[in-house]
Amino acid sequence: MGMRPSELFHLFGDLNNLSGIGPKTVINLKNLSIEKPRDFLFNLPFSVLDRLPVSSIRGVPASKIVTVEILVKAHKIGRSRASAHRVTVQDTEVSFQLVFFNARKEYLENLFPVGERRIISGKLEFYDNIPQIVHPHHVKKINEEKAIVRFEPVYPLTSGVSQKLMFGTINGLLEKLPKLGEWIDHELLKIKGWPSWQDALKSAHCPVSADGASNTNPARLRLAFDELFSHQLSLSIARNKIKRSKGRANISTGIFQTKVLNNLPFKFTEDQKLSIRDILDDLKKPERMNRLLQGDVGSGKTIVAFIGLIAAVEAGGQGAIMAPTEILARQHFETLLPLAEKAGISLSLLTGRDKGNSRRSKLADIKEGRANVIIGTHALFQADVVFQDLRFAVVDEQHRFGVNQRLELGKKGSVVDLLIMTATPIPRSLALAQYGDMDISIIKQKPPGRKQINTALISSSRIDEVVDKLKKSIAKGAQAYWVCPLIEESEVLHYTAAERRFEQLRAKLGEGVVELVHGKMSSETKDKIMDRFVSGNTKLLVATTVIEVGVNVPSANIMVVENAEKFGLAQLHQLRGRVGRGSNQSTCLLLYKEPLNISSRKRLSILRETEDGFKISEVDLNLRGSGDAIGTAQSGLPRFRIANIDMIDMLMETAHQQARYLLAKDPNLETPQGKAARNLLWLMDQDKSIQLITVG
Ligand code: ADP
Ligand code: MG
Repeated sequence: MGMRPSELFHLFGDLNNLSGIGPKTVINLKNLSIEKPRDFLFNLPFSVLDRLPVSSIRGVPASKIVTVEILVKAHKIGRSRASAHRVTVQDTEVSFQLVFFNARKEYLENLFPVGERRIISGKLEFYDNIPQIVHPHHVKKINEEKAIVRFEPVYPLTSGVSQKLMFGTINGLLEKLPKLGEWIDHELLKIKGWPSWQDALKSAHCPVSADGASNTNPARLRLAFDELFSHQLSLSIARNKIKRSKGRANISTGIFQTKVLNNLPFKFTEDQKLSIRDILDDLKKPERMNRLLQGDVGSGKTIVAFIGLIAAVEAGGQGAIMAPTEILARQHFETLLPLAEKAGISLSLLTGRDKGNSRRSKLADIKEGRANVIIGTHALFQADVVFQDLRFAVVDEQHRFGVNQRLELGKKGSVVDLLIMTATPIPRSLALAQYGDMDISIIKQKPPGRKQINTALISSSRIDEVVDKLKKSIAKGAQAYWVCPLIEESEVLHYTAAERRFEQLRAKLGEGVVELVHGKMSSETKDKIMDRFVSGNTKLLVATTVIEVGVNVPSANIMVVENAEKFGLAQLHQLRGRVGRGSNQSTCLLLYKEPLNISSRKRLSILRETEDGFKISEVDLNLRGSGDAIGTAQSGLPRFRIANIDMIDMLMETAHQQARYLLAKDPNLETPQGKAARNLLWLMDQDKSIQLITVG
């Protein structure tokens, strides 16, 4: 097993050992996620102050920060402590005032002895046209002037942690940086014009220009790249581990596939064809498949996966598809059953609802190979589910899996090819951040002939009109979803609000036409309600959460979302994707609570402009901006300290390629660059992956 290299010890030592830091500060530093000396180094300044050195303030505009040498002329003491204490000073050309509030007279007289010279730095202001500096940031004696830097880094701070402490500690650490070899490819380094790791840290913390904290600063780009590179490196190591574990070449005959293809009521889109080819190629190879199929809602992922499942059966094994909920598992089963029958293969559905005899006999079918393709929920991965010969597992992803869980899933059979399907249309750079360990196939096009969904923003003050129109549409045969907002403050409020809305709608639209479905119901109840909606008995389905509506009901053509401004754009896009699946014109009504601020209106308007999920998520990310922590649980993305969204966009693809390239050349990280890369992994807490190599 690998051990942390000794050069890095002091960066991972106890914070208390650093001078000026005691137990109280250690606690405060936690707010900044600083727990080790290393973390100080990665706590980069968010801006840079330019302390312009001048010989005189004459001609300097207001609000400029200046550093100037002055002669102390006189003190004008305030009448009370609350009134200002003024120190009149003189530079090479003019005299002006330094102003202090609530300061002790003795202290100031000591700091500014009349007749002596000092260097001061602060923001120049004008009061009644008289220049003054209120509370200068720095006051130094002539021989101490070096302590005032021209370009001062401004750090993120927290209570009990001052700029001075941050600056001092970081400068101390910069003096003792370990000499580490270069882990970035020399060619790349040259092309990008990036400094070495040591120099990058020094220049990020001791900027030499006012734009030292910008996104285009080479030192920061290099440090961001380091972060992304180590992330991609550990994903690639995990990927290689899967690939190295023995796979099986699944040689399919095509006989069942042909029968399915001959009976398809439509033609595949080009993207579907390409994805199918990727999957069939992977199945053929003696390595294990570890692939992500990314495609917007309604892009037709299920049939693509099904072709792969059939291929696994043709090769003599079994296939399985895992859905996030029972309703969806059942829906997959029902849509695929006719195709499976035409092909002459057997399809089995296993969910938590199978108990007793039914479960026993299904388990036996699976174990003895009578079931060819098995559809189920996560129940499929329980210990007592034993496959005769599982070759290919598809996970229709709703809940997002992390890398480690993906590794777990692959263990269900030692030679299972794995395909994960996601409907989250994230840009490629973010897909790489999340799924860099996987090969990626993308379905961008929608099947032809889809009608555009009319999307409208409507103030909730007009809810009565909306309900009237809904009533008329339903009378003409429409079916609709009504999504109630999540009330985060209280789950009870959340359900009662939904119940109240349900009762109001039932009163207006009539008994038996409206039903309510929510997350607290048993799955049997939910299924029954869904069944009645699918069969068209229920016309309006009021729902509390997204999950319950994650189904395919082609006849449903109206989607109403209440308090749409509270949802994420991606979520609204997914919700809207529930309609527009049939031949009827569909409508999506986004109700909002007034007043709607400009940025919310802008956000929601995007949905009116496009149905392209990739575009929507890109705009969403841009609007949320780099400041937004993209590592939120919702997005399932890792947290980066230095790399912001723009940098991820610029650098992730390169980091991904470089990681794969390095591991292809040097799978055990033994060359000088490889050894340096190990240091990087240690530095970035990715040392778990080092163990994958060493054990490997
Ligand atoms: P998703 O990608 O959201 O899982 P589905 O697989 O549920 O999408 O497909 C949505 C609908 O589109 C299904 O009814 C499916 O039969 C249909 N479909 C899939 N591919 C095509 C195609 N190439 N042309 C027309 N309809 C298609
Ligand atoms: Mg689907």
